[in-house]
Amino acid sequence: MSEITPYQIAIEQLERAARIAEIDPQAIEILKHPQRVIRVSIPVRMDNGSIKVFTGYRSQHNNALGPYKGGVRYHPNVTMDEVIALSMWMTWKVSLAGLPLGGGKGGVAVNPKELSKGELERLTRGYVRAIAPFIGPDVDVPAPDVGTDAQVMAWFLDEYEKVVRATRKGVVTSKPVELGGSLGRIYSTGYGVAVITREAVKEFLEEKSPEELTVAIQGYGNVGSYTAIFLHEMGFKIVAVSDSKGGIYSKDGLDPKKVLEHKKKTRSVVGYKEAKTITNKELLELDVDILIPAALENVITSENMKNIKAKLIVEGANGPTTPEAEEYLFKEKKSLVVPDFLANAGGVIVSFFEQVQNWTWTQWSEDEVKRRLEAQMITAFKKVVDEWNRLDKKVVLRDAAMSIAVRRVADAMKLRGWY
Ligand code: NAD
Repeated sequence: MSEITPYQIAIEQLERAARIAEIDPQAIEILKHPQRVIRVSIPVRMDNGSIKVFTGYRSQHNNALGPYKGGVRYHPNVTMDEVIALSMWMTWKVSLAGLPLGGGKGGVAVNPKELSKGELERLTRGYVRAIAPFIGPDVDVPAPDVGTDAQVMAWFLDEYEKVVRATRKGVVTSKPVELGGSLGRIYSTGYGVAVITREAVKEFLEEKSPEELTVAIQGYGNVGSYTAIFLHEMGFKIVAVSDSKGGIYSKDGLDPKKVLEHKKKTRSVVGYKEAKTITNKELLELDVDILIPAALENVITSENMKNIKAKLIVEGANGPTTPEAEEYLFKEKKSLVVPDFLANAGGVIVSFFEQVQNWTWTQWSEDEVKRRLEAQMITAFKKVVDEWNRLDKKVVLRDAAMSIAVRRVADAMKLRGWY
């Protein structure tokens, strides 16, 4: 039982940011605790007629800046501790992105793959009825996360509107476009990762042109594939990509759209013609300029940090680099890691745009969504660079980003008179 929990990690990160940014200890004391955690029992009629009771949670960490925002996870390992930590991380993500939102997260301990579509729908509706008194477009706005998708959000919206007997499109985001979802949401995270990569190159890789730089991307799902497609459009040379079955490498560069077509047909990037097969381990250790882990957590660790050659690592996935590896790369290899909650914020930014469109009964064009997303990502990136310079470049970028995020929430709490 000595394993460190996600909540303990979140607390450690907060205390570290507090030291670096010299934030009032009273604010930090408040921020260590979620404002409210809801635990609900959800009885579901299964297809065979029996009743099964599932446990669900919603953690509302902090709403000093605005309504709580964060996904709902359906996974067998969901615990209250994990949901609280994830809600705290959402507070920092939305704060750094400059959004008028707070941090929240929800989850149900269930393996959605073991449920029929009908069971999944009844579970979702039961969860919504249980938490309905505590959510709403200007209170707390859920979204998809691991194990949930646009269909789950459609049921979510429908059930909530039945409970409150009114139209409330903004109660969830990443809905299908037909029900008020935003155009561009599907690729928003990948587009944001690409924009941040381009900006980081300008800032940290001595203004080298994209054509001179090679990129390797781990993971070819939603985040990885769109990151590859947009970076390719910007002129970068994508030399390697991978998925759970393995990776592919071509020194002359890959065409990401063609790789995606191949993956759609064969369910893997492996086997793509004109590329040689490599392992995921080899992909991470390639001699490339930029490495983008966009699949899993804990892939750059003390085990492989000495072999990582990329000078710039942009975290598309959540938590791919361990703190020890990040420190080593920074101190020993002079490599920089652009942290996840900056690099992959594109999804939550467009979720916020969806809220704005729902509040104002409008639909923005795809171009408008992209333009605003790009501007918001660049602003957040510049703030982190300024703070990093202010700290004499002595800390990892994550520390600079955390300092900004925590300070913004602490300032809002101070103005409200919470401490
Ligand atoms: P996804 O399920 O669409 O894709 C995941 C990809 O990772 C797939 O290509 C899969 O084959 C690959 N993968 C799985 N196991 C692997 C392994 N052992 N080695 C190499 N590749 C492996 O998921 P996604 O939405 O692209 O999310 C990826 C990461 O980005 C996650 O950490 C997620 O939390 C994070 N993220 C996603 C979003 C979003 O909007 N989708 C937003 C923020 C953060």
